[in-house]
Amino acid sequence: MTKLNETHNDRKKRANDYVHEVYELIKKRNPDEKEFLQATREIFDSLRPVFSKHPDYIANGILERITEPERIIIFRVAWEDDQGKVHVNRGFRVQFNSDLGPYKGGIRFHPSVNSSIMKFLAFEQIFKNALTGQPIGAGKGGSDFDPKGKSDREIMRFTQSFITELSRYIGPDTDVPAGDIGVGKREIGYMFGQYNRLKGGYEAGVFTGKDPKHGGSLGRKEATGYGTVYFVEEMLKEAGLSFAGKKVVVSGSGNVSTYAIEKAMQLGATVLACSDSGGYIYDEDGIDLDTIKRLKEVENKRISEYVKEHPGAKYYDDCSAIWSIPCDIALPCATQNEIDEIAARILIANGVIAIGEGANMPCTLEAMAVFHEHKTLFGPAKAANAGGVAVSAMEMSQNSMRLSWTVEEVDERLQTVMKNIYTSCLDAAEEYGHPGNLVMGANIAGFLKVADAMVAHGLS
Ligand code: NDP
Repeated sequence: MTKLNETHNDRKKRANDYVHEVYELIKKRNPDEKEFLQATREIFDSLRPVFSKHPDYIANGILERITEPERIIIFRVAWEDDQGKVHVNRGFRVQFNSDLGPYKGGIRFHPSVNSSIMKFLAFEQIFKNALTGQPIGAGKGGSDFDPKGKSDREIMRFTQSFITELSRYIGPDTDVPAGDIGVGKREIGYMFGQYNRLKGGYEAGVFTGKDPKHGGSLGRKEATGYGTVYFVEEMLKEAGLSFAGKKVVVSGSGNVSTYAIEKAMQLGATVLACSDSGGYIYDEDGIDLDTIKRLKEVENKRISEYVKEHPGAKYYDDCSAIWSIPCDIALPCATQNEIDEIAARILIANGVIAIGEGANMPCTLEAMAVFHEHKTLFGPAKAANAGGVAVSAMEMSQNSMRLSWTVEEVDERLQTVMKNIYTSCLDAAEEYGHPGNLVMGANIAGFLKVADAMVAHGLS
């Protein structure tokens, strides 16, 4: 409640004190979770003007509540390799917030997975999912299982064991997982099959990112990468620019990267480089996407193989050095914290004009400050990569209605969602006194939707 006779400055101070106090509390409660603390810090920095304007959110303890997951499930995943040896991995599902709908967010299989990474991803998902305007809450899951070098049968046995435990906590109206790093339509297919076997039915809406031949949505595979490029296109348009004729560097060569590359090329850009965790390739005439798709999607090979077929291209075995390539637009689409302050300064020195975060939290806070200082066009992950979850929500709708939209219909809806997200970020940034700052805009616009629902739903 606004106190009687409270001045603007009093309200500002109260908001700053509140944000500071809650952040200190979170640090104390989660001392070793550096990625989670980084993600909360970024949001908190944006929300001061919101609490100044809406003291009722302080009275409702929204910040304390929104930063504590509703539930975290941690479980053992035992599985047997092809030689009969038993392995044990750790499984996670963070069910962070369900005020806007069933928990929704991907599953990641990567050796780096831990509580902090799961929590930061699920936390970011709250605001991202809210920005899409669709009725979806937020979650994230995964395991420290490393799919690299595993046989198809080993992947199947692991995912079946993983979902056998997780199945009791998910469902089309409670929690709907999808893919992420290391989890594509093959893994989703195994999880979906095992889930249905355990439940004794066919619950199409329990997973998204399914193969379109088996209940998935057309256009889902492309959605995150395409959506990122659509978002950057909006930023460029506002500045009187476009992708045509621009030089682009994209990190990674997985799901998000591949389709960001494809869309950037379709819009007339030349993509000079992409990477995997081993290194990057640079092809000054523009990379050949068919080769990348075949190597990565069909043959499951390393990106270094590219130069065998394209002798004019070069391979460098340090993936982080990809940002030293001069470019107009940088699309980090691989993983968290891949652009640090040094990389950001190199990009600026080389004349970069726009950054679009296809991956989750790919820029460190220090890198973001550098881009902000230089007024570089910056599309933050929560907004720029929301196209994937937006089409996942469309997959849920199609599954409920038991029908399929055409790829054109899905793409048209995706473009509308990305434009709407861009406009809400721009409007929120303007309304709260930071015109043009899309980081503030995305955090504020996403937060307002969830905060209002949390107030409406009462204390929980
Ligand atoms: P994939 O597993 O399909 O691809 C990840 C790619 O990044 C691989 O090429 C991988 O290489 C590479 N990579 C991993 N670590 C590094 C590193 N340190 N440096 C360079 N490359 C690296 O994952 P996705 O494309 O699905 O996800 C990528 C990012 O996008 C993640 O941050 C994810 O959370 C985010 N995201 C994904 C969505 C989706 O719909 N899939 C939706 C929204 C966000 P290697 O094969 O060597 O490991």
